Amino acid sequence: MSFSNFGNKFTGSSGILELMDDLGNALASPDAKDLIMMGGGNPAHIAEIEDILQQRLIDIANDKNELQQLLGVYDTPQGEKAFIQALAKLLEKEYGWPITEDNIALTNGSQSAFFMLFNLLAGEHENGKKKILFPLAPEYIGYADSGISQATFKAYKPEIELIGERQFKYHVDFNALEITKDIAAICVSRPTNPTGNVVTDEEIEKLGELAAQHRIPLIIDGAYGTPFPDIIFTAAKPIWNENTILCLSLSKFGLPAARTGIVIANPDVIKALSNMNAILSLAPNSIGARLTLNMMQSGDILKLSREVIKPFYQARCEQAVTQLEQRLGELPVRIHKPEGAMFLWLWCKDLPVNSQQLYQNLKDQGLIVVPGHYFFPGLDDDQWQHQNECIRINYSQAPEKVTRGIEILCNELHRLYEAS
Ligand code: PLP
Repeated sequence: MSFSNFGNKFTGSSGILELMDDLGNALASPDAKDLIMMGGGNPAHIAEIEDILQQRLIDIANDKNELQQLLGVYDTPQGEKAFIQALAKLLEKEYGWPITEDNIALTNGSQSAFFMLFNLLAGEHENGKKKILFPLAPEYIGYADSGISQATFKAYKPEIELIGERQFKYHVDFNALEITKDIAAICVSRPTNPTGNVVTDEEIEKLGELAAQHRIPLIIDGAYGTPFPDIIFTAAKPIWNENTILCLSLSKFGLPAARTGIVIANPDVIKALSNMNAILSLAPNSIGARLTLNMMQSGDILKLSREVIKPFYQARCEQAVTQLEQRLGELPVRIHKPEGAMFLWLWCKDLPVNSQQLYQNLKDQGLIVVPGHYFFPGLDDDQWQHQNECIRINYSQAPEKVTRGIEILCNELHRLYEAS
């Protein structure tokens, strides 16, 4: 059997596939139960949220009409109407955005929204090939390889602000940033996976201005951001206008299995995504939308995000940072300023081995992290040593596991630096 170019592109080796295979094999091994999983992006199981979802499921199961809506009907290609109406009202009320139901489409997870958006905007055009610009590498690993054509992305290295002895923060390097004719859209995750960075209000405003000047959209990936699940620990203004494509998700609210992505954009983009939904999957999944419909209508989704989800991750984050600071001692390791999402990003300056080897060494000791070099999709400069000096750790596991993981990590770092 021979595959098409499309088939080969999507089945050939890619960083993410290799990593997922490796992790899958580790998890399938007989010692898996002892592994400390600080690698993946699965959200934590938060009891208060789970209780609410459980009760909602019971209520739905007890009501034939509700059950039919949950399981027994195809929605329109745009997505579940009542949910879309409730969300439009909520966003208008909360932020004053001029949003109607023509501004919202649902997708099967925001991952598939990115696949559709990137390929809608970038790739072959009548007048040449266009790319998606990531103004601030490192960026989300899941964007890599999602273009149907080769080389769909272009990324820029960040400016690095050192903060005290132990932290740092990436900023957009506006002096270097060039929006050339072949750029189809600018895209940034806020908060950023993998770093926990929250691109500042000024940076977002400037990116928005640049996008408008060049008549291209600014895509903001709010999978962890405002208005929900609101895993943001600093002040950050939620931003939307007709030139912004804001992508949200119910995954980090606690529903990753319900595969619900939400795109907020101008009606042309929404119409295009609805048409693509129809071709790719007839209609998006209704389950996440029906399960959270009452929370959208009441606004409780915002309250739960602010009062339950955000504090949960913030407490885990503070615990992990404190422990790292205690154990790192004099090592030249800095933590990216943790401003949101569920990760810490460590920069191990002049690390005697590369981050892939560090990942292997830690895996051999039962700790799974993610090596940092995967998070630079679209960056041409493979000589930039920084890419091989970083790792991402997820701190949302049970506190005793995180403590043990940090102990293994810091012991290994001490061993490596001291041996060099
Ligand atoms: N964007 C970012 C930054 C993510 O980290 C993820 C998943 O972890 C996604 C998008 C995709 O999430 P989902 O498809 O579950 O909505």
